Amino acid sequence: MQYREALQRKDGKWDYTVTWDKVTRPAGYCATKCSGHETKEEAEECYRIYMIDNASYRNVPFDEDRRDQHHKCEICGIWTMCRAQVDPIEEHFLCPEHLNKESLLKVVPAPGCSASSW
Ligand SMILES: [Zn+2]
Ligand SMILES: [Zn+2]
Repeated sequence: MQYREALQRKDGKWDYTVTWDKVTRPAGYCATKCSGHETKEEAEECYRIYMIDNASYRNVPFDEDRRDQHHKCEICGIWTMCRAQVDPIEEHFLCPEHLNKESLLKVVPAPGCSASSW
């Protein structure tokens, strides 16, 4: 199991962390370029931005024969197969016009605390 959550350090600052096999480590930018956050929400936002900066975009052309696999763009609602993967388990459907970082900032929720088995 892998656990992800914002944790308070001994010095009072917050890091977003991943716990894997009982070993907890700072994750995302908290592991590299930031030196801790004043609040839990800031640490979560830090990881959210990290996920968005590292998102992978799949621009799939509209395909009439695979209509059933289309989803509504989360910004404008038109049908699309384009998607952005922000996390191994989280995908967002966005049309070609909205397949960008600006849209992801609007649709990706704060990571919060999660446990997953991947
Ligand atoms: Zn951070
Ligand atoms: Zn759209």
